[in-house]
Amino acid sequence: MYLDKIEIHGFKSFGDAVKLNIPRGITAVIGPNGSGKSNVADAIRWVLGEQSAKTLRGTKMEDIIFAGTEKRKSLGYAEVSMHIKNDDHVLPIEYMEVVIKRRVYRSGESEYFINGSPCRLKDIQELFMDTGIGKEGYSIIGQGQIDKILSSKPEDRRSLFEEAAGIYKYKVRRQEAERKLEKERDNLLRIHDIMSEIE
Ligand code: ATP
Repeated sequence: MYLDKIEIHGFKSFGDAVKLNIPRGITAVIGPNGSGKSNVADAIRWVLGEQSAKTLRGTKMEDIIFAGTEKRKSLGYAEVSMHIKNDDHVLPIEYMEVVIKRRVYRSGESEYFINGSPCRLKDIQELFMDTGIGKEGYSIIGQGQIDKILSSKPEDRRSLFEEAAGIYKYKVRRQEAERKLEKERDNLLRIHDIMSEIE
């Protein structure tokens, strides 16, 4: 599995639609200060479901939409597509090429797509779980993040190893199942209360 192409339109400094082909091997993005190099990494984080404007170096989510320049009008939406070659089926989906797309409008409405079909954020998160690529994955290491990882508490660092070992997915599912069980326990208690009132 590898990242093959990124398409960006209306995201931060990308007022024009751009297509970045990423050939196999080492790829470096170079350019003058402020030209938008980090915005490419932000675009990848965002399409993978990042919900924190702060992580994307903004104050609110609307900040990621192209705000215009002296010569260009602002845009009403931002859109990023990430093309992944999945020949080895590391992503648990039958397709050899997987395209994840996210679009957001100034109203705040967000849309997600997997291979052109609308989906939920949860579907994208689950698709990438335990691959190291998800927004919490270790494949994007931001500035200062290594220091943060080294100085974090062992239990916080553990999630990184769980993702690498491929057990994070099961942990999340267990937590979901426990939440459902808790809810069902509450429902049962309520039913017992009602039944004892009727009796
Ligand atoms: P450096 O080398 O200094 O780290 P960089 O190449 O990584 O810089 P970025 O931080 O990716 O640059 O891009 C910063 C640029 O993006 C700034 O010029 C900023 O004005 C522009 N920018 C950020 N958000 C928006 C937006 N919503 N609309 C238009 N431009 C934006």
